[in-house]
Amino acid sequence: MKYIEHIVREYLCDGCGEPLGNQDGHPYIQAGENNYCYDCALKRGLIDAQRWLCANGIYIYDHAVYQDGVISAYRKWGKGFRRDVVRIFDQNGERV
Ligand SMILES: [Zn+2]
Repeated sequence: MKYIEHIVREYLCDGCGEPLGNQDGHPYIQAGENNYCYDCALKRGLIDAQRWLCANGIYIYDHAVYQDGVISAYRKWGKGFRRDVVRIFDQNGERV
């Protein structure tokens, strides 16, 4: 009988230490030798806010910027844009 060893490597986020869930097909961000979850990648400026929103299933915005724990997201509204401001991390960097 032949045994086949199946090894799946579960990566941990190099920022927060949480499992990245790559075994389950969850996306994560690679930066050099390090792997990051989307939260940590956003904090480090590796991805922009628009990409973070899409990774969290939010596709309604046309443009988004991140600064100091807050995402400002814009969507077309008539002839202008409507802005939604959402705090996603508190002062300690924890998800709110
Ligand atoms: Zn992380």
